Amino acid sequence: MWKFGERTHFIQELQGLKEGDTVKIAGWIYRKSELGGVVFLRLRDSTGVVQVVAKEGSMSKEEVESARQADIESSLLVEGRIRKDPRSPTGIEILASRIKVVGESHDFPIKPDSGEEFLLDNRHLHIRTTKMRNTLLIRKEVLRAAEEWFIKNGFVRFEGPTFVGTAVEGGATLFEVPYFNKKAYLTQSSQFYLEAAIFAFENVYTIQPSFRAEKSRTRRHLTEFWHAEAEMAWADLNGMMDVAESLTRYISQKVVERAGHILEALNRKFEPPDNRFPRITYDEAIEIARKKEVSIEWGDDLGTETERVISLEFDLPVFITKYPKKAKAFYHKPDPKRPDVVLCADLLAPEGIGEIIGGGQRINSEEELLMRLREENLNPSNYKWYLDLRKYGSVPHSGFGLGIERTIRWIAGLPHIRNAIPFPRTPTRLYP
Ligand code: ATP
Ligand code: MG
Repeated sequence: MWKFGERTHFIQELQGLKEGDTVKIAGWIYRKSELGGVVFLRLRDSTGVVQVVAKEGSMSKEEVESARQADIESSLLVEGRIRKDPRSPTGIEILASRIKVVGESHDFPIKPDSGEEFLLDNRHLHIRTTKMRNTLLIRKEVLRAAEEWFIKNGFVRFEGPTFVGTAVEGGATLFEVPYFNKKAYLTQSSQFYLEAAIFAFENVYTIQPSFRAEKSRTRRHLTEFWHAEAEMAWADLNGMMDVAESLTRYISQKVVERAGHILEALNRKFEPPDNRFPRITYDEAIEIARKKEVSIEWGDDLGTETERVISLEFDLPVFITKYPKKAKAFYHKPDPKRPDVVLCADLLAPEGIGEIIGGGQRINSEEELLMRLREENLNPSNYKWYLDLRKYGSVPHSGFGLGIERTIRWIAGLPHIRNAIPFPRTPTRLYP
């Protein structure tokens, strides 16, 4: 690891040292206590926590006093010697010979009893706390594993723009932004651009933010979320589900392999799914929901509560396929055997989490796409370039989008999606 300034070791690296070795470490005061004139500081850096002992004899009286005065979250440089101490949780401590307070901190606002809203208002400070750091380390592993899966499987990374001219997911959740003398929107999905890219690279993906003006306040919607999207030339609905399943399995396995200890620290018991994910149809799904007393009409999209009830019936993530055409966006390919449903699949995560992936086979004929646009009262002239993709060597193709924060929420067992992202954006939150 890169080291800057005077420090010789990160806290994690102290484990390998011998009694009496001298070190310089740097970090922030995590806890502080005093016993019989001796000051005990628990110092944290990005790699761990170690106890620093400040007492007269090893240090000047003034320096012990400055350690005594230093408050929680002050930043320090500490020089000292390693002492093996079986009573300390890490087996070692540092007997300080010099302590320099680099940045003072007084009355750090985050307290054990701080309320949710207060913590959200102070997210810029809250991210330093153990629980938030652990959650964000799970996020890091989810993003890393997702990217890694795509690279290992030969997918080409391809980014769409953030400013776009037309809707992908329908007008209700569009964010409009002034764009010189025109109107632009923030992208709801990079799907259409990835569809353009398959003609150059066949299997493509992106991991970037999508924006949706979701007005309802739920535990699973953000207005800005990270979206891992893939689009595959020549893939049908089953091919798409195979990719989505393999990706989801890989992410959950790698998070456990690389950060199982962090999940444990978060008190999360998580087993990566082992068996093949069940695949059921929408019709079967609403039967299950009705047996659980959810009232749902054929044709309705599955709401949060319906998805929750269905996902509780399975130990594994479950695919729900072939939704009614009217419940889904215009680009989904109608089932040739039954045109009132489309060849789509959503993946619901277990434990009531609900949808983490939405995808399906796309319409690949220009004529059929025009028909669906007209049926949905959309103006084909707004989709000219998208229609072009069906004019020049169109191929059957499928794709999906996985919500990074929903996946983190599932794996880390978070009650609310807002802790799965460093600075959440919701209808009522644009600060900090
Ligand atoms: P929902 O019905 O739950 O709003 P959706 O059908 O609108 O989801 P898709 O358009 O299929 O979702 O988007 C693909 C994936 O992106 C979803 O499965 C989900 O994981 C994620 N996603 C969509 N909207 C949001 C959001 N507002 N906040 C966080 N993640 C989202
Ligand atoms: Mg939505």
